[in-house]
Amino acid sequence: MKPKQYQNIVFLTGAGISAPSGIPTFRGSNGLWNNYPLEDVATIEAFRRNPNYVHKFINELKPTILETLPNAAHYAITDMQKLCLNANIDVITQNIDTLHEKAGNNHVHHIHGRIDNARCERCGCILDVSKLEVNTKTICPSCKTIGRLKPHIVFFHEPILYTSIVDKLLEKVDLFIAVGTSGNVFPAAGFTTIAKQKGAKTILFDIEPSANPFFDEQIIGDASETLPKFVEERFAIH
Ligand code: NAD
Repeated sequence: MKPKQYQNIVFLTGAGISAPSGIPTFRGSNGLWNNYPLEDVATIEAFRRNPNYVHKFINELKPTILETLPNAAHYAITDMQKLCLNANIDVITQNIDTLHEKAGNNHVHHIHGRIDNARCERCGCILDVSKLEVNTKTICPSCKTIGRLKPHIVFFHEPILYTSIVDKLLEKVDLFIAVGTSGNVFPAAGFTTIAKQKGAKTILFDIEPSANPFFDEQIIGDASETLPKFVEERFAIH
């Protein structure tokens, strides 16, 4: 199939797409994550044990992440959405940053949540906390309960969000493009297999090759260089 004939295109993005913007992956850590041991701040058990410690971590991280700007890989997705007006193009992201939105991407699904949101565990409302430091004394503006706000982030050992949307997208996907994701974090790591089984063409953009046999094509290099080039070469009108 020619690139432009794809009708249902799904991007799966991971930490690697935001690395060129300066938000490191966990493995390529440069100080953003390693001031706190991940097992003390990134698991649901850690949050239940010591919520204020986890809130402190998030409150310190949030301004840096929210100040970060998108890079050419994020903008390439916007370009593709503008170039392929007849196709459905969705972005499933594992990232908690908001760089897809800042770059103008549409149809972004944050399966691991967003750092600028919190959810009240009592009434379920989701709040914009981009300018608010949440802690165990924060009052939910909706139900007025004290101390039940949880960062709207999927911690390790919690289920992902938007599973029914993901299931629907993977049911009909015909082009599946993974960008900057190591394939170590499940269930997202299994999406490539599902897409391939549904008959989609599957492509990986990463700085490291993957051993996953379900990728038809692997484009190795910095996604901020390889993805714009791919969109220009295969989707732009010449
Ligand atoms: P990961 O750290 O396991 O893997 C990142 C992948 O990106 C690796 O395969 C690496 O080779 C690749 N990569 C690094 N730099 C790249 C670049 N310039 N171009 C292309 N690829 C590049 O990340 P993951 O698979 O996304 O999973 C880790 C979890 O950590 C995720 O669940 C995510 O929620 C979370 N996380 C999020 C952020 C963020 O929001 N920006 C950052 C770090 C971790």
